[in-house]
Amino acid sequence: MNFAELTSGDLSLAFQRDVAVLLPTGSVEQHGPHLPVGTDGLIAERLALAAAGRLADECVVLPTLWYGFSPHHMSFPGTVTVAAGTYLRLVAEIAESLYAHGVRRLVILNGHGGNSAPLKMIAAELARAHGKSPSVVTYWDLIAAEAGDFFEEPELVCGHACALETSLALHLFPEAVRRELIPERSGETGPHMFGRAGPAEGLDFRNYSSNGVIGDPSLATADLGRRLFDLIIERLVRNLSPGSPGRVGPGQGETS
Ligand SMILES: [Zn+2]
Repeated sequence: MNFAELTSGDLSLAFQRDVAVLLPTGSVEQHGPHLPVGTDGLIAERLALAAAGRLADECVVLPTLWYGFSPHHMSFPGTVTVAAGTYLRLVAEIAESLYAHGVRRLVILNGHGGNSAPLKMIAAELARAHGKSPSVVTYWDLIAAEAGDFFEEPELVCGHACALETSLALHLFPEAVRRELIPERSGETGPHMFGRAGPAEGLDFRNYSSNGVIGDPSLATADLGRRLFDLIIERLVRNLSPGSPGRVGPGQGETS
């Protein structure tokens, strides 16, 4: 169910049934020469709607929060970021509005690594203030255990505008992918989705990659994207099903 297309009365009944309320979060930021700047929100939104489709009237999907925390991409044209404090307040106030209406199962489905740390902070503050916390799910964490089944070197090929994101884009919105501009492996080191967490830095992305890519988007295929999408949906549906606390554990990658 699409939250924005329902009436206040519809939603009141849905909240009484204790439906899961899903907030897709993305970013507007450079995604290399070949992917659109809305990639993270586009993926998160499509995942949310597909999961909700499987759960029928047990799940409603809020309008996607397209803007995110992306100061580290600002040296690339097209990136639009909000400050950390703005992001923290915005997400907290969305959650508090829902809590005021009795929502208990709020799940934030995140598609942008830069949002992960602020979202965890918001969850902790909400828990302290309201005694309940949204469940924060960054989608690639759901398949971290299987990443090696899809990519031979997931810690090298999945970083940003990478094999994973490009595969999902080729499956979900191929018309927006500039295939002729897909680069070879970046060869530059930086934080990766499935890599071991190292020291955190807040440097601009150009310090890691001249073309805005980390990883190897040339390995991407639409078929890989379809299989990745299906597995993520399976995991999401399991976590969103009635009776499930919707908890999937802490996030890992912090990059895309
Ligand atoms: Zn991304």
